Amino acid sequence: MSVDKVLREMVADEVARALGPVHAALAELQGNGAIIARLAAALGQPLKRGPGRPPKNAFAVVKATRGGKRGRKASGDKRECAVIDCGRPARSKGYCAAHYQKYRMLDRTGRLPSDWVADASPASVKNLALPRGRAGAKALAEARKKK
Ligand SMILES: [Zn+2]
Repeated sequence: MSVDKVLREMVADEVARALGPVHAALAELQGNGAIIARLAAALGQPLKRGPGRPPKNAFAVVKATRGGKRGRKASGDKRECAVIDCGRPARSKGYCAAHYQKYRMLDRTGRLPSDWVADASPASVKNLALPRGRAGAKALAEARKKK
């Protein structure tokens, strides 16, 4: 029983010693709090505490400086499509959007003609009329078989 009491006292002393600085700091803070409250009263408005609301534009996305549409090249070079008689502006690898899709499809199916090169100069590539319908399906199947 007495051993228990002695142990308790020892622990209490140790805790008090360890928390001494914390208590002092807390007391000081409370004093500061009183000062802040008095200052606030004197200034006529309550002072904000803590981080509060973030400023309105804290999370605003920084706009790209390039401007214009996404994916477009900044330089306003108006190259024409590489396909003869197309006339649309080049968009990717020297081809307009439609002919670039055709280029990709021909490349994918292993039917890319030798003059359909990447970054071809404007109006330098002969357009390719692909067979439609059943003939087209047959040509595609044959191209796939070859591949
Ligand atoms: Zn084109």
